[in-house]
Amino acid sequence: MEGSLKPMDAEQLRENAHKMVDFIADYYKSIESFPVLSQVKPGYLRELLPDSAPNQPESLQDVLDDIRQKIIPGVTHWQSPNFFAYYPSNSSTAGFLGEMLSAAFNIVGFSWVTSPAATELEVIVLDWLAKILKLPNQFLSSGRGGGVIQGTASEAVLVVLLAARDKFLRKHGKRSLENLVVYASDQTHSAMQKACQIAGIYPENLRVLKAGYSSNYALTPEVVSEAISNDFSAGLIPFFLCATVGTTSSAAVDPLFELGKICKANDMWLHIDAAYAGSACICPEYRHCIDGVEEADSFGMNAHKWFLTNFDCSVLWVKERSALIQSLSTNPEFLKNKASQENTVVDFKDWQIPLGRRFRSLKLWMVLRLYGLENLQSYIRNHIKLAQQFEELIGYDSRFEVVAPRTFSLVCFRLLPPPNHEDEGYKLNYSLLDAVNSSGELFLSHTVLSGKFVLRMAVGAPLTEERHIKAAWKVLQDKATDLLSGN
Ligand SMILES: *Cc1c(COP(=O)(O)O)cnc(C)c1O
Repeated sequence: MEGSLKPMDAEQLRENAHKMVDFIADYYKSIESFPVLSQVKPGYLRELLPDSAPNQPESLQDVLDDIRQKIIPGVTHWQSPNFFAYYPSNSSTAGFLGEMLSAAFNIVGFSWVTSPAATELEVIVLDWLAKILKLPNQFLSSGRGGGVIQGTASEAVLVVLLAARDKFLRKHGKRSLENLVVYASDQTHSAMQKACQIAGIYPENLRVLKAGYSSNYALTPEVVSEAISNDFSAGLIPFFLCATVGTTSSAAVDPLFELGKICKANDMWLHIDAAYAGSACICPEYRHCIDGVEEADSFGMNAHKWFLTNFDCSVLWVKERSALIQSLSTNPEFLKNKASQENTVVDFKDWQIPLGRRFRSLKLWMVLRLYGLENLQSYIRNHIKLAQQFEELIGYDSRFEVVAPRTFSLVCFRLLPPPNHEDEGYKLNYSLLDAVNSSGELFLSHTVLSGKFVLRMAVGAPLTEERHIKAAWKVLQDKATDLLSGN
């Protein structure tokens, strides 16, 4: 490797990593100059890159030039202050630094012994965050529960579903799998359905209950109770309910307290998916959104969405860690070690699907330490205030309507179809979304609520300020004017 980059050389790393950090800082500085939604066509990159990998090394400079010219045009800029689609995916300086350090150690922390600090820091930081969220003590590591970092909320719901399934199979016998019934709403994230597919839940035993307009898209306890008693009467075994705090379509909040009572009365596992909105519950004025979490068996939140922690970092707490471990543990000879054998340590391999795991707690720890709770609370409050301002702007333009009540930083709205032409609403808003996103000036996504095509303005990128909200609204108004005048 004479004359080229060595795999590991501290001085070469210093020099090149400095260049990369400069490149990244310049990218963030100029991020508003790119179209937020990448405007390339499928297959664009094939034409720009060679057919095969190089035989001889190339220079970092050449690679950076390619990134500028060929890769960045194909990037959708999630860190842009004008990114309002889906839910946010926060980067931050603290999260970034933690991510760098995690890449540096590059440990594979499946068991305590593979890096005691990785396991112990994860346990401690998740206890910290549980306390910030005022989760009941049963979710802390000091009792029978504890927290674990998963890659995504999808993995979180899958592992708790597996834990609950196996708990019920132990009780009712392996043959009862075909009788196990899962409850969710039509607003629950599709990750629940995927988890059922993987866990072998019979497709006809996933109850997707209606959560409609009249309940602001939240589950109604009566609907849940009725479904459960019907299933009991049919000889089935209701065992798992997924409630959501901040649904993906409209950020609706399911009534945890009542649902918790129902689950308790029927001996069912309650999982709470607060992937997006969980972050808001660090503010005392939003904590009530998870009142009832005392009744839950598991609770998850994505720190990588709206909590300044770079992807991936999905935090999951359970009350009975033994349920997870009974489902997911293995004990092969090649991983045996004294600490694990003596049962004095946590081996997170037994709390998740893969064996290998990154040192992800570093970035969450750095976010909590370098910003502090008060700053994190103001961060959340500011986004909610901006969403509120956006909602007010909509109120001044009678051509638009807000379609679902706003609780956090998501505004669901649409352009009203002409009177008595509701059937035109779908196409009108579809076209508005397309016009806005093709402009490259901002990026919104959509959903369908009660048959209406709805635009979602999800505020939550770290760089977003009031001026971006106002500019986004101006683009929306201008595009609406064009559309309504037939341009
Ligand atoms: C974003 C989101 C998910 C999926 O998150 P992943 O971490 O990508 O799996 C699940 N549930 C809710 C409520 C979400 O907002």
